[in-house]
Amino acid sequence: MLSVSRAALLRAPVRAASTFAPFPNTLPEDFIPYTLEKKWTISPDSKVLRFQLPEDVLKEHKQELWNTYRWCSTCLPEGPLSILKAPAGVKVKAEIGGAAVEKSYSPVSMVWEDKYMDLLVKEYKPVSGGGGLGKYLCDMELGTKIDMKLKAPRNLAGYPYHPNRFKDVVLIGCGTGIAPLYQMAHMILANRDEKTKVWMVAAHRTEADILLREEFEQMAAFSDRFKLHVALSQPADPEGWNTESTSKSKPWTGSVGRLDLETLRATLPPGDKPSTMTVVCGLDGFLETICGPHVRIQIPGKSTLKKTQGPVVGFLGELGFGTGGRRGSEVVKL
Ligand SMILES: Cc1cc2nc3c(=O)[nH]c(=O)nc-3n(C[C@H](O)[C@H](O)[C@H](O)COP(=O)(O)OP(=O)(O)OC[C@H]3O[C@@H](n4cnc5c(N)ncnc54)[C@H](O)[C@@H]3O)c2cc1C
Repeated sequence: MLSVSRAALLRAPVRAASTFAPFPNTLPEDFIPYTLEKKWTISPDSKVLRFQLPEDVLKEHKQELWNTYRWCSTCLPEGPLSILKAPAGVKVKAEIGGAAVEKSYSPVSMVWEDKYMDLLVKEYKPVSGGGGLGKYLCDMELGTKIDMKLKAPRNLAGYPYHPNRFKDVVLIGCGTGIAPLYQMAHMILANRDEKTKVWMVAAHRTEADILLREEFEQMAAFSDRFKLHVALSQPADPEGWNTESTSKSKPWTGSVGRLDLETLRATLPPGDKPSTMTVVCGLDGFLETICGPHVRIQIPGKSTLKKTQGPVVGFLGELGFGTGGRRGSEVVKL
């Protein structure tokens, strides 16, 4: 059983702070159709799907940006969606087998791309009564459309990310949970004015399941502000899939087995280091082990429960992450 220190529980109040900043009023807030332009396979069960950004809708937004920044051309955000900030999110909607299905995805393209948006989608085997949206998306024909809506910018400790807001950003994800983390890491490392260090920990099953491996390894090779650790629960690739890029002949140098407390202790900066933002994304069980689950609370006058961050417990609680405060160590569960 997971041991949770009393100190970690006590210092981590349940917060009901807003998860999203206001939606930018010049971007389309509703579902609109996006056309699939390209798709490619990146692991035995995952694809990247490239959707065109609808020109006509973004034109108005671009005009608004020009109006806002016309006195300072160097302040102009680099692309029409950059106002959304990483980690960006979308809702995708489809009718599958007569039922309406709506689920969240995290773009892996950069928010400043002005022609397309890439989604990394895992093709879960549909179950009866399930959504089947992952398979539906992966099976889409090029040139066909799907309804998506952009989510408002995600708040991290009160408001959306901006450069150099934190000294250290720790990103921990499993499976497709690495998608929003990849976008954040890329955004921070691509900005030469940023001094923030990024500590990325990814957990996958086999070598073939590692998502965006080349991209992360390039970040680690080219930036001394980026540290990468990959944990594999089953390092051998039983199906020999994609052997060329998975350097099967070389021994696995990351950790083996489920991500544990000692691996995180050895890999991450000290948990109570001031100005540290930690973002964790993955399956419910993974979140629970790493930092504790989301908590749903009743808001007076509302019929539905509100999903909140919940206390920081699990391994990150043990290591002292999430001490809070303006200049403290914060943990956000996506
Ligand atoms: C904020 C957020 C961001 C997300 N970003 C992405 C993303 O970038 N890429 C991506 O592929 N998915 C992402 N997801 C998960 C996504 O929303 C769907 O839950 C997922 O695609 C499964 O939907 P489905 O209709 O294909 O599965 P279903 O047909 O409903 O289920 C099929 C099988 O998959 C299992 N399953 C369902 N959901 C999950 C899940 N989340 N994890 C593991 N197993 C599951 C079910 O138990 C079942 O066995 C995100 C979820 C959230 C909440």
